[in-house]
Amino acid sequence: MRQRFGIGFDSHLFVQNRPLILGGVTIEHSKGLKGHSDGDAVAHAVIDALLGAAAMGDIGRLFPDTDERWKGADSMQLLREVKRRILAASYTIVNVDATVVTEEPKLAPHIDEMRDNLSRALGLPVTAVSVKAKTNEKMDSVGRGKGLQVFAVASLGGA
Ligand code: MG
Repeated sequence: MRQRFGIGFDSHLFVQNRPLILGGVTIEHSKGLKGHSDGDAVAHAVIDALLGAAAMGDIGRLFPDTDERWKGADSMQLLREVKRRILAASYTIVNVDATVVTEEPKLAPHIDEMRDNLSRALGLPVTAVSVKAKTNEKMDSVGRGKGLQVFAVASLGGA
């Protein structure tokens, strides 16, 4: 089996009056993430990691933010669509790993639910799905709480 790897990255600004949704989990917080879709930066970074591993473009090309169809979109639904395309191209998804960088809120209580959601969307055992959280040690704009960043990698087999 040939193995392939992809990297994904996403960042979103925190804004008032938006829910904070990460990995399909709505998290109690004073701010949410700005975005054309639901702003789920974990789903977006994982999508780009998967698309990168398959060399199938990127989230902006598949789901342009100029397209009204994706306004307020459930990003886990976009993730399921990307999984469908990856499997249709004869790849298997081996594992995904993501790191969220944010000063707040504390994500530790939500990590397992994010892993559950991602594993169900991707049809993977939860042991093949990792989500981690870090702060930026108060450095730079993420460290000042202007927004958050997510890094992800995905591994595919086959094709
Ligand atoms: Mg995004």
